[in-house]
Amino acid sequence: MNAKLVGGTIITMDPEHPAATAVAIRDGRIAAVGDDHDILAVDAPGAELIDLHGRTVLPGLVDSHVHALDTGLQHLAIDLADATSVADVCDAIARERPRFPSGWVYAMRCATWELREGRYPTIAELDAVCPDQPVFVSSVTGHSGATNSPGLRIIEAGAPKLSRPAPASPEEAGWFPDDISLLAASSVAFGALEREELGALHRSVAERAAVKGVTTLHCLEGQATQDDKDVMVLHEISGALPVRVVLMYQTMDVGRVKAMGLPRIGGCLCVDGACFENTACFYEPYLDKPDTCGSLNYTEEEIGGFVMAAHEAGLQIGMHAIGDRAIDVLTRAYAAAQSASPRPDMRHRVEHFQTPSRESIAIASRLRLALPMQPIFSYLWDRPEADHYVRQFGETRADGMESFARLIAQGLLVSGGSDSPVTDIDPLLGVHSAVNNPRASRRTTVEEALRMFTCNGAWVSHDEDEYGTLKPGMSADLVVLGADPYKESATICDIPVLMTISRGDVTYSTDDLR
Ligand SMILES: [Zn+2]
Ligand SMILES: [Zn+2]
Repeated sequence: MNAKLVGGTIITMDPEHPAATAVAIRDGRIAAVGDDHDILAVDAPGAELIDLHGRTVLPGLVDSHVHALDTGLQHLAIDLADATSVADVCDAIARERPRFPSGWVYAMRCATWELREGRYPTIAELDAVCPDQPVFVSSVTGHSGATNSPGLRIIEAGAPKLSRPAPASPEEAGWFPDDISLLAASSVAFGALEREELGALHRSVAERAAVKGVTTLHCLEGQATQDDKDVMVLHEISGALPVRVVLMYQTMDVGRVKAMGLPRIGGCLCVDGACFENTACFYEPYLDKPDTCGSLNYTEEEIGGFVMAAHEAGLQIGMHAIGDRAIDVLTRAYAAAQSASPRPDMRHRVEHFQTPSRESIAIASRLRLALPMQPIFSYLWDRPEADHYVRQFGETRADGMESFARLIAQGLLVSGGSDSPVTDIDPLLGVHSAVNNPRASRRTTVEEALRMFTCNGAWVSHDEDEYGTLKPGMSADLVVLGADPYKESATICDIPVLMTISRGDVTYSTDDLR
């Protein structure tokens, strides 16, 4: 569409012209940014005139780390987020099971560490509430899960190579405590979804994201359904969704990714696990489980081999690394690949980069690695009333985790994301979390936080000349907010999104503006 938005506060994120009052859109691109007088004079046939009445415009928001399939499934699944006991989990499944008349019953966002018993329901407990239908329960982190007897039969038949730690007791027979076993199990459970259902899930995620001001989602997909059916569906329909999709295919099959024509590979290809499951890999033990430091999901040789192959194939690589040891293994692999075959501007990604060592920070700086991080995690979980980081790691280590402000001060390029469904796709909450973080080591300026979710997000996928800033020639990806985040910095999460425009098309709009 052609449009002129006038009478507002335009935050361009373009350092050369940071502020304006109006913007003109022509043929899906930014035609001009300036004051009202200049913009009204711009030639844009049939342009819709939108009076902003002082509202604020930002570049369209980028969530650089989302799992779309899991997010869509979460909208569909029984929500266990509020459960505080195994009985709560079982009651919720018993109550909502009729919503799934046939096939799998999905229940998500289980946080066993919030349950009184600190564990998943046993296979017998799940059988008691769901005897004849397979049920799949998964963790809020996506790093563990559980099933009942009918589910286990289907999973064992469907994933004959399923390997998992031997259950410590018969009660644990339905549990998938680590990434490898969980992925094998969930690929059967989620693989039961039809292509049409998968397409509808992806569309619903994109539509909900547009409501939150999102114009670009980095979708980290794969390993969740057999043969990655969901990835193929997303790849086919992504051009018709109301957000841009930057597809990260979570596979180590370099040939397949090249054949699909994708420029990048990986995502939450997990070098290690997650903190809550005590599977993120550190040099020092967990305080809440002193017999473990977590573990690597692949050997260093496997990681090095994959990174080298993907790097030499010209792909941008992303892998998940949370613990200091896991991040060291990954950044050293990137450094080794880069010194063996130097590639300018490869922007390999370290997803999460939660606890980097000094060495990893130095490598990330030298190689200009992309660091998609998730400010909402610590905002929710590292505060006195939640205290998970301190409980697991103690004060000193907790203070070194996800220290956005320190990393940015050292010149690293941090982008923002939600890791949805771990936290909701809500970039303004992400900005708020970085600006209002309880810890000084993380607390950023409004400017830095906005960059994480706009231009830095675009940079991560080599798209900084296409969107992420508002200047002439860029794609018309922008969002109209009810207030200025600089002026309302303590309540950024409450600022309403009034309109979202993606590639020149309105993808979400309230009545307030038109
Ligand atoms: Zn991850
Ligand atoms: Zn993730």
